[in-house]
Amino acid sequence: MVLKGACLTSNSIPPSHLGGHAGAAAGAVLLLAKPRGFCAGVVRAVQVVELALEAHGEPVYVLHEIIHNQRVLADLRERGAIFVEQLDEVPAQACVIFSAHGVARSVERAARQRGLQVIDATCPLVAKVHLEVMRHARAGRDLVMVGHAGHPEVVGTLGRFDTSRGGSTHLVETLADVHALKVRDPLSVAVVTQTTLSVEDTRRVLAALRARFPAIVEPRRDDICYATQSRQNGVRNLLPRAELILVVGARNSSNANRLREVAQSGGCDAHLVQDADEIEPRWLRAGIVIGITAGASTPDVLIDEVIERLKGWGAGAVTEMEGEDETVSFRLPVSLLRSTALRETRKTTDEEHQPL
Ligand code: SF4
Repeated sequence: MVLKGACLTSNSIPPSHLGGHAGAAAGAVLLLAKPRGFCAGVVRAVQVVELALEAHGEPVYVLHEIIHNQRVLADLRERGAIFVEQLDEVPAQACVIFSAHGVARSVERAARQRGLQVIDATCPLVAKVHLEVMRHARAGRDLVMVGHAGHPEVVGTLGRFDTSRGGSTHLVETLADVHALKVRDPLSVAVVTQTTLSVEDTRRVLAALRARFPAIVEPRRDDICYATQSRQNGVRNLLPRAELILVVGARNSSNANRLREVAQSGGCDAHLVQDADEIEPRWLRAGIVIGITAGASTPDVLIDEVIERLKGWGAGAVTEMEGEDETVSFRLPVSLLRSTALRETRKTTDEEHQPL
């Protein structure tokens, strides 16, 4: 696993990184939210790229950022991954990986028409939402998606809806969007949500949808994924004690932004930082209690660097909070397992046929 578990020691911080703020967090207490950082879908997506590089050799192409984290992307780039925004940037016959966010059906079709070797790293929990969307399309319902316009997961999910049975799609973000919504038949409406939304905000939007369309068909189980929910619960556990909450994550990471919002709506001073360099000494003071969490696409190394920077500025005890133990893991895509097995068989056969 790339970038997992690396941990600097306090002694390894170059004095230049302390930037003259050596005592900024003197005696601060650091509370680590549990769980935090990589989720099972992200672990799987990164593994897919690593194994694809082994099985196919470099380069492998990845449509969109495999996950929203620049440090992870830089590491994979160095090993031979090329990230593209459009499918036509991928040369004919090349290997292309679809990111954890999933893609529209039209993208899948275009890739196959061009003879590309496709490996689908869509998170199984996003794929579950895709199945719901396809079912509603077949039933001719209008589909309302609660999500953020332009986010790759939303684009991919809405792109799974087949309008040939008469239904159409609507994207809502706010209560005002719900009030303005116009559907073909109020008795034939279904709803799905993006997997990485705020649980509280989504609850309000869903309640407004139910009030407008009492017959609305909802998912049997929440579309907001287990990892999003448990990380938001982890932030709530910090709230009674933390005076400042730092969320380590990329600015374009939906779930990391939601963690910051959960902390702020709980009345805590909270900031999203991409790495240790973005911590502002003016947020700190002697003895402050600092909660630390990280979005589902943030590798451990970035969390460790934040902790070590704060220790370098004088922070003391680090305590991990009580929280949910995560045991979820997802199987790798079958197509990738097959090509990895094939490569192993070829390697063994080649070795067996080496002249003595
Ligand atoms: S945040 Fe949830 S939906 Fe997204 S990759 Fe992780 S487990 Fe899957």
